[in-house]
Amino acid sequence: MMGYERRAAAGGVAALREALSDLEIALRIYVPGYPVTDVVPALGGGARMATNEKVAMEVALGASASGRRSVVLVKHLGVNLLSDPLSIAPSHSIGAGLVVLVGEDVGPKGSQAEMDTRNYGPLCEIPVLEPSGPGLIYPALQEAYALSEKIRAPAMVRTTFEFAGGDGGPDYGPALNSARPDKREVGGLPTFDRSVWDLTAKGRHQRYRGEALPRMRSASERSSLNLLRDGEGDLGIIASGRPASFASKADHPLLVVGFSHPLPAEAIREFVSEHDKILVAEEPTPFIEARLMVCGDIFGKLTGHLPWGRMEEGDIERAADLIASGEEPGPAAPPQRFDERLASKTVCDDCPYLPLYEAVADLSVPVAGDAGCSIRAVRDPPGAVDVAYGLGSSVAVACGFGEKGVALVGDYAMAHSGLLGLIDAVNSDRDVLVVLLDNGVAAMTGGQRVPDLSPALRAIVPELRTIDLPAGRDEIIELLSLEMARPGVSLVVARGACPRFGPPR
Ligand code: SF4
Repeated sequence: MMGYERRAAAGGVAALREALSDLEIALRIYVPGYPVTDVVPALGGGARMATNEKVAMEVALGASASGRRSVVLVKHLGVNLLSDPLSIAPSHSIGAGLVVLVGEDVGPKGSQAEMDTRNYGPLCEIPVLEPSGPGLIYPALQEAYALSEKIRAPAMVRTTFEFAGGDGGPDYGPALNSARPDKREVGGLPTFDRSVWDLTAKGRHQRYRGEALPRMRSASERSSLNLLRDGEGDLGIIASGRPASFASKADHPLLVVGFSHPLPAEAIREFVSEHDKILVAEEPTPFIEARLMVCGDIFGKLTGHLPWGRMEEGDIERAADLIASGEEPGPAAPPQRFDERLASKTVCDDCPYLPLYEAVADLSVPVAGDAGCSIRAVRDPPGAVDVAYGLGSSVAVACGFGEKGVALVGDYAMAHSGLLGLIDAVNSDRDVLVVLLDNGVAAMTGGQRVPDLSPALRAIVPELRTIDLPAGRDEIIELLSLEMARPGVSLVVARGACPRFGPPR
C-alpha cells in the first residue's frame, strides 16, 4: 500500500475552484437548488445557469463533442431530469471529459425527497466517484476527467456532505493507491469520433461494454480515493462520503470507498475476508451494504444498526456496541412531524402572493402547487395547495384532475419544465386554471433572475389575463372565479415583487 500527500485545501469550494481551473474546464453550467447554490461561486464568473438540468447536460455534451471539457453542477433530484441524455451518452460516446457534479441533500433539508444518485452508476453504466471529504474533491475531479476521456463517457462525482465550508477533511489514513493522473496525463482534449456511426445501436453498446467497463473497474481499484486505516478488533468498517468522517473517529479498521460504481471489488473482498464482522456506514441508502449482504456478517441500515438517510455523530459507536453485545437494534425512529420550528417553510408574512393563495383556497377545487414558493402554501395559513410533485409539475398534474382545478406555478418552474405541461394542456383541450406567480426571480434557490416568458406565454395562451399584486382580495377572487367558470385552459399571470429579492426584471 502506498501513501499519498493529501492536497491541502482550504475547503471544498476552494478545491473545486482550483481543480476546474487546473483541469481547464471550459464550460461550467449549473442549475441552482439546495445544496448546490452555495457552490456555484466556485464555478467562476463565466459559469452559466441553465433553464433545466436536461438542457445543461445537452449543452455540456455539445461542448464535449467539440473538444471542450465541461462540468454540470446539479442537485440530486436534477439528475432525474438529465438522466435521458446521461443514459444515451456512454454508448453513443463523447469527446472531451464531461463530469456531472451532484450535490445530494441528505436529510433532506431543502428538497422534497432524498435520493441516492449512486444508483445512476449501474443504471447508466457510468463511473460514480464519491470524495469522502472536501480535500478529496480535487483528486476526485482529476480522476473523473481522466476516466471520462479514457472511456468516452460522462463521469459522475457525487457528494453527500456539505462541502461549502470545512477544511481538508479528517485524516482517514493512506490511500490504497497513488494513481492520480496529473494534468498532463489527462490532456489531449478529444473531439467526438464520428466512426461510432459505423456501428449499430447494439454494436455501440457492445463496444462500450467491451472497452469501457473493464477500464472503469480498473480505475476503481486503482483510485486514490479509496483509503485504508488499520485499527483494533474484529469489526471492520466500510464507509463512504460524509459518514467516513464519523467512522474515522472510531477505533476500528476502516476502508473508505471512494468509487461507488463500479465498487473496488478486490479491495472490499480483501477487507471483508480480514474481519469477522463488517459495518457499512453510508448515506442515504444501503447502496454498498445491499451488495455485500450475501457475504455473511454485514451490518448497517438493512439490519437496523444504522439509520436510513442522514447519519449523526455517535451512530457508528452505538452500532458497534450493539454488534459487540449481540443485542437486536430497537425500533426505527418514528416519522418526523412538522412543527413551528419549521416555520421558514411556510409563506412569508409579507409575501404579496398571500391574498392570492387565500383566494385560491376559497375556490374549494383541487390545487397543484410546485416546488417553488407555492409549496409553502400547503400549510395553514393559507392551506391552498393539495399536491406538489416537483419543479415544473403543477400544470400537468392539475390537468389530470377530474374537474377544472388550479395549477400554481412560479415563473422559474414554468421556464424549467412547466411550459411543456402548458403546451400539452392547450394541445389536448384540458380544463385547467394556471396561475403564474411572476416575480422575476427563483426565490427558493437564492433569487436568480428568471427570463421574461411573456412572449412565449402569449403565443401559447393568447387570451391570458394579468393582475398586479398587491391587489384587493375581491379583485383577485372575481378574476379567478371568472376564469374557473370558463371551459378550457385559463392562464392568469400574477405579477408581484418578492420582498426578499426586489422588483422583477
Ligand atoms: S415570493 Fe418571496 S416573500 Fe413570497 S414566500 Fe417566496 S420568498 Fe417569501
